[in-house]
Amino acid sequence: MSAWCKLSENSFKISVTEAQFVFEVKSALPNNLGRAGVISTPHGTIQTPAFIPVGTKATVKGVLPESMQDLGGQALLANAYHLYLQPGPEIVDQAGGLGSFMNWPGPTFTDSGGFQVLSLGVGFKKVIAMNTETFRSDEVIAENKERLAHVDDDGVTFKSHLDGSMHRFTPEVSMQVQHQLGADIIFAFDECTTLHNTREYQERSVERTRLWAKRCLVEHGRLTQERAHRPYQALFGVLQGAQYEDLRRKAARDLAGLDEDGISFDGFGLGGALDKEKLGTIVGWMCEELPQNKPRHLLGIGEPDDLFIGVENGADTFDCVAPSRQARTSAVFTRDGRVNLSNSKYQRQFAPIDAECDCYTCANYTAAYVAHLFRSKEMVAATLATIHNERFIVRLVDQMREAIYNGDFLEFKREFLGRFYVGNPKRQAT
Ligand SMILES: [Zn+2]
Repeated sequence: MSAWCKLSENSFKISVTEAQFVFEVKSALPNNLGRAGVISTPHGTIQTPAFIPVGTKATVKGVLPESMQDLGGQALLANAYHLYLQPGPEIVDQAGGLGSFMNWPGPTFTDSGGFQVLSLGVGFKKVIAMNTETFRSDEVIAENKERLAHVDDDGVTFKSHLDGSMHRFTPEVSMQVQHQLGADIIFAFDECTTLHNTREYQERSVERTRLWAKRCLVEHGRLTQERAHRPYQALFGVLQGAQYEDLRRKAARDLAGLDEDGISFDGFGLGGALDKEKLGTIVGWMCEELPQNKPRHLLGIGEPDDLFIGVENGADTFDCVAPSRQARTSAVFTRDGRVNLSNSKYQRQFAPIDAECDCYTCANYTAAYVAHLFRSKEMVAATLATIHNERFIVRLVDQMREAIYNGDFLEFKREFLGRFYVGNPKRQAT
């Protein structure tokens, strides 16, 4: 069994031969929860805060892993639910793990599949931008959607979106799948609720997630020992509690305090339903309770204003499909806001998408050319737009990190958001 040893106030290390997982805080915002640091994994380091691009099915759609490296991606996050269904975790295991399978040499993450499995249950899209003004019920299901997942205290039974076959995820199954996938950072299986669930349901769900977290730790400890020939995988516990302060703080304290035979969480995922208007407050509640010496990953967040709020309130890493998904619909970031290349004015913009961008696309192609590729439905349109959007968001979070080190984070935030959301005062920096 691996033994924990505390190295110093700001670093934590698991003593497994060679393979190490270490997090060190290097700088912090004065009077604030935000910080900059370094996560070390068996496949390399991640300078935090960092945006982690998403390759759901072990690929960032339309972009080669080499391009993701070139644009500054420090790590990639894939999804356990999708890879479990296809190609199957045993194939990824035989290939030597996720990074080896997809020819990505750097660190990798997998999320537990909880969100994907549970979102089958209610037919919801992303929960982040939810409006809490709508009605609240535990029986919410999107219109014309069959309920594809059923939760009980032991796990979730769900129907594959690919072929309708029935499957079951439990905390143990999620750990087994994620150990076979072999990512450096994996997440505990949690019940992801929505903002529409009742308070009573959220309470039960936080308790269920705590019990599942304990089972994940036990199974993770067993698998770590059984697969000691594989690089060490760090396990992050996932915090739920929706918009309720007491539940969020309790979830953070509960998971931070778990210790199963010397196995505790290496870090934490800030997950679940997050009300956009209260994002900073909710992240702050959790980070105030969590230990300083373990990294925190804010799940599914990628809008510029949300990233600033997340960093300021203590989140270290972020992932989101939005930059690549939006790129495929010709929506691209510029310093002056998001624009859509389908707008006729871009047909004659013989200049880069964003003159201040340092990406491959902006260095070599005009907005007019990329706009033409979208109009003619050429595949490379999505590739060039995705490279641009991923670089834009990766670089934005890199710049936030530099600003923390330089002591001018708030000035950078004010300047960036003031310009990016000009004309949309609701989202401007406060
Ligand atoms: Zn660019």
